[in-house]
Amino acid sequence: MSEPVAAKPVKKTTFDKTREQLSLPEGTYTSGQESCFNVIAKKLPKSAIPHTAEICNLVLSLNLNLKQVEAGMYFLAANAFELAAFKTACGVGVTYTPEEIEAFITDAVQKNPTAENFKILSIVSKQFPWAEAQKLQAFVQKACENRVVQKEEKAEKVQKAAIPEGPTLMPLEQVYDIIPKCNRYEQLPEEQAKHEAFLKSINATILTRFPPEPNGYLHLGHAKSMFVNFGYAKLRGGKTYLRLDDTNPEKENEEYVEKIKEMCKWLGHEIFQITHASDYFQRLYDIAEDLIVKGHCYVDNQTPEQVAEFREKKMDPPCRFRPAEESLKLFREMRMGLWAEGTITLRMKIDMKNANPNMRDPIAYRIKFHDHQQSGDKWCIYPSYDYTHCLNDAFENITHSVCTLEFNIRRESYDWLTHIVGGYRPMQWEFSRLNITNTVMSKRRLLRLVNENFVNGWDDPRMPTLVGLRRRGFTPSVINQFCQLVGVSRNDQFIDYGLLEYVARQEFERTNDRAMAVLDPIKIELADYKEDKEIEYPLHPADASKGMQKIKFGKTFFIEQSAFMNGNATPDFMELALDQPCALRYGPAIYVKEVVTEKNGQIKIIATHSWDAEEKQKLFKAMKAQKKTLLHLHWISENDSRVAEVRLYDVLFKSRDPMEVEDWIADMNPNSLIVKDKARVPKYVAEAGTQKDGVQYKMFQFERLGFFVVDEQSSNKKLIFNRTVALKSSF
Ligand code: ATP
Ligand code: MG
Repeated sequence: MSEPVAAKPVKKTTFDKTREQLSLPEGTYTSGQESCFNVIAKKLPKSAIPHTAEICNLVLSLNLNLKQVEAGMYFLAANAFELAAFKTACGVGVTYTPEEIEAFITDAVQKNPTAENFKILSIVSKQFPWAEAQKLQAFVQKACENRVVQKEEKAEKVQKAAIPEGPTLMPLEQVYDIIPKCNRYEQLPEEQAKHEAFLKSINATILTRFPPEPNGYLHLGHAKSMFVNFGYAKLRGGKTYLRLDDTNPEKENEEYVEKIKEMCKWLGHEIFQITHASDYFQRLYDIAEDLIVKGHCYVDNQTPEQVAEFREKKMDPPCRFRPAEESLKLFREMRMGLWAEGTITLRMKIDMKNANPNMRDPIAYRIKFHDHQQSGDKWCIYPSYDYTHCLNDAFENITHSVCTLEFNIRRESYDWLTHIVGGYRPMQWEFSRLNITNTVMSKRRLLRLVNENFVNGWDDPRMPTLVGLRRRGFTPSVINQFCQLVGVSRNDQFIDYGLLEYVARQEFERTNDRAMAVLDPIKIELADYKEDKEIEYPLHPADASKGMQKIKFGKTFFIEQSAFMNGNATPDFMELALDQPCALRYGPAIYVKEVVTEKNGQIKIIATHSWDAEEKQKLFKAMKAQKKTLLHLHWISENDSRVAEVRLYDVLFKSRDPMEVEDWIADMNPNSLIVKDKARVPKYVAEAGTQKDGVQYKMFQFERLGFFVVDEQSSNKKLIFNRTVALKSSF
């Protein structure tokens, strides 16, 4: 009896898997819906999994298109699921009439008479970000049907693929929508009048400030804070101070101050004025004396331990009731340097019984015998954050004092002091801190990495500092787009590092010139070489305006070691092998003759070649017969290239959240830097210039390898390149 024939298993399609993964109800879906669900299956972040059913229902009930779903997934990568916010992020409720679209297209066509259809489409897509791509395409096609485009001369080999447009970003209006439009505090009428007159005199509607402490370099979290402070003010016709919050002289220095200014400008922010908390030291001191006289502050003799204990137990410190004259006398002695550090402090007399610990008589001044980088040795007492920040905001007429949520607890004392002092009252508003996976972002920890040489300085390209990111090749526009994508929210933000890479890739794909470079070279020498051949190499396959580059093909050239098998090709190996010829990108077919070992112990492939198209066709067919693809390897000629050191980076920490592991230093990724010191880059890349003094240097896409920038330490003697991001996404 013959064996029963097992039913052939039916191969599952992507959508079958999606259907299972998302537990979609039975039934048929349109191809548009299928694409939407596939994207959800791929990109739905873990945190949003409990809402899968609800999100899938929204796709059906609101008839979301692919763009909207993609925007929704970016939103969820950065925010917790919340129905209203999710809908806004997906552009629900934004509608465009066909007339509106048609009118815009007609206009776009008139204004860009020589533009290709796809260029018109990209202009139109920007204007109507939520419209279905296919519909827009149909509109554009119709509008362009009868027009005769005077096409510009185009190089032959340039394909007409559309240049990617970058991620769909939520409009800024919506990103900042969560921030209150104006200061809601009630003001004394005369203060309000003065305030308005001041704003008018500087031609601003609102005022914000970005207040870094110059005790370290700025990082990606600060970029977010700048995006919020500068960006919001700009959108609303306001202005922004850069205020150096320099009240801890022992941790601060001028080097940090300079770098902060530099980075703020580098990101493209327009600074209204640069100020320092220390600019106001005298004014703050005078107010303190006044507050003592009025009974709102007192000098306390408790040690730091006693202060903490009394606060914890909600007990009044004995000095709380000392006469104002005595406090004033002691305060002046403090200032004169008659008391030792840590012996006495000035405290605000608020409320020792308050539920909010920060209201239990916070410190206003402490003694520090430390010179200050701005005021020199003028002061030996320095005001605290709680005393300084709100008053500086008031002095500067700040309407929105935007800070991160950990300051929430300090809002009450902020309001108490501005109220007691009686001037214009700024409004504090908090948003959530930005946290990124696989890195640390507190300046204290970054400082430790630098001081103990776990990294090579603040600008090590693996650091999340802005100087590090810049050296690695990230541009201001990538960083700002990333901030826009992440958005402003009051929910915890723990963002995948891959999102930054994603934004970078989208931009660099569009802007970078291409090049063929080889990281781990293996030499090929042609046995049948006749003469060098010049090849026209398109600098961007989709952007003819970048033009062509002449590259040389010569007797010796290199391919990647991994693209060669020193033996017969295995069934899954598609590159060059002893018995398997291959093709070169923009080059000939290559046939291995033999492999020899050179004097230095390295192997060299001796090969023959053919430019004949028919030969390549034969290879193509032979590979196809084996169910393989004929690959076109990237390569580089020996005499048209230079040796370079190429540095490849990975995340700095192994865990998604290094703060959660017991020993965060032990969690560092030993493979965060891999150096390829025998790489080869084309001469035209080597000659493109070096990155000096933070001037953004021209970047390249090395085909199949990623996006690269020349390192700051690169010199004509020793070329060094950094990989900013690889081509493949981890997001
Ligand atoms: P760190 O913890 O890194 O030392 P910080 O808050 O002490 O940060 P500051 O120099 O005082 O650093 O910060 C200046 C501004 O930048 C503050 O308003 C702060 O809220 C904001 N900021 C700092 N880190 C982040 C972050 N990760 N995300 C968003 N904003 C941040
Ligand atoms: Mg700080």
